[in-house]
Amino acid sequence: MGAFAGKASLDAAGFGLYPWGMHIGIIGGGFSGCLLAVQLLRRAPVGTAITIIESGDALGRGAAYGTVNPEHLLNVRAGNMGAFPDDVRNFHAWLSASGDPSPASAFMSRMRYGEYVGHVLRAAVAEQAGRVPVSLVTGVARALHPGAQPAVGLEDGRRLVFDRIALCFGNLPPGPPPGLTDAARNSARYLHDAWKARGLDAIPAHGDVLIVGSGLTMADVVQSLVSRKHSGKINVISRHGYVPNRHETAKPMTMERPTSGLRALFRDFRRAAQAAPSTGHDWRDVVDAFRPWTIETWRRLSSAERRRFLRHVRPLWEVHRHRVAPAIADTLTSVRESGQLTVAAGRIVSIDWKDGAFGIMVRPRGEEGLRHLASSWIVNCTGPQGDYSQTTNPLVRTAVEAGAIRPDPLQLGLDVSDDCAVIDAKGVVSPNIFAVGPPTRGAFWEITSVPDIRRACAQMAETLLKS
Ligand SMILES: Cc1cc2nc3c(=O)[nH]c(=O)nc-3n(C[C@H](O)[C@H](O)[C@H](O)COP(=O)(O)OP(=O)(O)OC[C@H]3O[C@@H](n4cnc5c(N)ncnc54)[C@H](O)[C@@H]3O)c2cc1C
Repeated sequence: MGAFAGKASLDAAGFGLYPWGMHIGIIGGGFSGCLLAVQLLRRAPVGTAITIIESGDALGRGAAYGTVNPEHLLNVRAGNMGAFPDDVRNFHAWLSASGDPSPASAFMSRMRYGEYVGHVLRAAVAEQAGRVPVSLVTGVARALHPGAQPAVGLEDGRRLVFDRIALCFGNLPPGPPPGLTDAARNSARYLHDAWKARGLDAIPAHGDVLIVGSGLTMADVVQSLVSRKHSGKINVISRHGYVPNRHETAKPMTMERPTSGLRALFRDFRRAAQAAPSTGHDWRDVVDAFRPWTIETWRRLSSAERRRFLRHVRPLWEVHRHRVAPAIADTLTSVRESGQLTVAAGRIVSIDWKDGAFGIMVRPRGEEGLRHLASSWIVNCTGPQGDYSQTTNPLVRTAVEAGAIRPDPLQLGLDVSDDCAVIDAKGVVSPNIFAVGPPTRGAFWEITSVPDIRRACAQMAETLLKS
């Protein structure tokens, strides 16, 4: 355990009750965990203590900003990546202050952003100079014990007791692609988690690679392969074959608060996107204009409408809403045009490993029959696991099994109340365990990127400090 400042907040016997005031435990030290700590530091009275439990070796990085490839870029412009809802330009100001001349419209490297998040936390801790101590516990949380004094069990056997706990464990690691046999899973040539640093190092430059999934993670992997001068074929397959669109220069527009149901909303959206060029805009400006209304609209939809959205609209929404930086889009275009990269739409039925190669059975989209594909390497880019009962994250898995938390009905995250308190298997809302960021996606939908999480962290700090 390391204390950032002031007196260590945990007793010498190891993780007993904090004797002076409220002790808040934050599980996960990625963007959400760090920014929640910062927002708490801004508001907490003397006597409050904060402990961050993080399994990795750095704070503020997480899956998104822990990349070691400087060519992995943010998909939001620097001018809107500030860590604070009341200072969205803060990241750009930090860049400028450190001598970086990049404009606010630039898409900076995610590594650099990780540095910034670490800086924001350190600066907030230093400003408080021990008034509110912040401690770091490095370790894997693997059990959640609800109760009047909720506790966290660590993998090494330690038990930490708190007054309030905030779950900030981010997106879950990906699940396996469909029909993956044990032989395929155990092959060293199957790379399960594309976000693992240096995982792609094992692939030889001439190796043919199948990427399963065609979203933002795929774009990262293709960029990494291109950076290392990969010359082998890269085949991409996903159910719809949609690839993220590119960012263009934004010409902001506003949208009136939508009040219609899903069907009418979708129709109005299409019309607005088609009409956008006549007013000097394009569809991207329409998508961005909807942003202030996304959470409110999601919360207004009935559960049947939410399901319909996920079934029919989600794949299209993802590639229009979560766009890639122009440099990444250029890479994708150039490898597609050269014939090195192909993107196909189809449903994978099985993946087996035999005689030194993968055999993949695919039902191409719109066809009845199956086709056989072969590949020497497979990279799983299917995105975060949605089914919380199947995850490999030990804390989430054991807490779901013990009934301390439950998945939301759409399997997008955790079931939470309006103020993000977790709901247990019996439907009881926890008085002292809360979730922040991606795990609350079922309740808010648009809650996975910085502009949404920074607001959620400020609100959660208020909630946690209520007596
Ligand atoms: C590859 C990628 C790129 C992205 N790019 C952008 C972008 O450009 N712009 C943008 O706005 N958003 C982006 N996002 C969205 C991203 O989800 C958020 O920006 C943000 O990083 C989420 O932060 P988080 O702290 O909730 O989760 P994470 O960053 O995933 O952090 C969770 C932390 O919890 C720790 N943890 C998990 N389980 C345990 C446990 N059991 N015990 C201890 N520690 C644990 C993990 O080690 C990790 O450090 C990206 C996401 C990804 C995956």
